[in-house]
Amino acid sequence: METLILKVNRDQPRGLEPAARILQSGGLVAFPTETVYGLGAIFNNETALLNIFAVKGRPADNPLIVHIYGLDQLSRIAGSISPSAEKLIDRFWPGPLTLIFPKKPEVSSRVTAGLDSVAVRMPSDPAARELLRLTGIPVAAPSANLSGKPSPTLGEHVINDLFGKIECIIDGGACPAGVESTVLSLTGTVPVILRPGTVTREDLEQVLGQPILEAGEGEVERPQAPGMKYRHYAPAAPVFLYEGEPEKIIREINRSLKEKTSGTKAVVLGTTENLSKYHNEWVLDLGPRDDPGVIAARIYQLLRFCDQFGADLILIEGIPEGGVGTAVINRLRKAAGGNVIHVS
Ligand code: AMP
Ligand code: MG
Repeated sequence: METLILKVNRDQPRGLEPAARILQSGGLVAFPTETVYGLGAIFNNETALLNIFAVKGRPADNPLIVHIYGLDQLSRIAGSISPSAEKLIDRFWPGPLTLIFPKKPEVSSRVTAGLDSVAVRMPSDPAARELLRLTGIPVAAPSANLSGKPSPTLGEHVINDLFGKIECIIDGGACPAGVESTVLSLTGTVPVILRPGTVTREDLEQVLGQPILEAGEGEVERPQAPGMKYRHYAPAAPVFLYEGEPEKIIREINRSLKEKTSGTKAVVLGTTENLSKYHNEWVLDLGPRDDPGVIAARIYQLLRFCDQFGADLILIEGIPEGGVGTAVINRLRKAAGGNVIHVS
């Protein structure tokens, strides 16, 4: 298949009409958002929705997020909108917060993976907004990567994964947040964060004026979002994540480096202040330990770089949870699969 590549200036997006026409006629378009690149299809075309799963190799029981331009579109999709949802929409939309609503019957079960709820978000990125405006129909989209790989945060990431497989890629450069949206469920008695993002628990609690939970905490049943069970965001090489006191992490990583078989191309991802403390040829800068927002913006680029570089082993310095740190550590744990080492 021929893939049309459209370069776009994120702040003054122009020339997206061909992409909108492709979507309207049931094609797939990858587009930049403030979080990561999305792989979009109009939400009401069954063939196009099937193609999203086929192209990504995505399991059919992992639902998609519906991206809307305006609140009039929300009423086509959501069965009801609670007062809490209204407060959050007021404060955080457009922006990187996905809310779960009861779904209207016309929302395809391909979008919701058979659930009776639907995930909706109104992106703030000007290019994404322009595409949604021109298309005039809500767009269902997961991240624009092959299933399991790190999410794309640069146009070239999408080109590497999907060129020749979809009709159009909009290349708008780097995504500012760098991690996927926060997903919040309001369907139970207590609001639950199903996926942490750059809209933090603290932000949400402040607006709602009530405590909220992270998935897996307290009484919360785990797989409300089927997608949560899959290994995700992972580069080709095995990833080992070290969590705990920074000095102990450094000592442990240096010990592992010493013990590795010679010829193993190991890459360390460390925080800015600790870079010089690792005894290794290849050490990449995650960003400052106390600025998880910077780390979030870089993390997928770094993991993809390790693949390109041909790393055999990736050792990562974990950072504390809290604020955006929670989103960073969540993605790193998934990238590491079971390989999480607690040093204490
Ligand atoms: P992606 O951004 O590529 O991971 O795809 C969208 C993600 O949104 C899924 O993996 C789920 O975590 C979440 N999601 C989508 N729809 C629902 C839903 N109805 N209920 C709970 N979570 C959902
Ligand atoms: Mg994804």
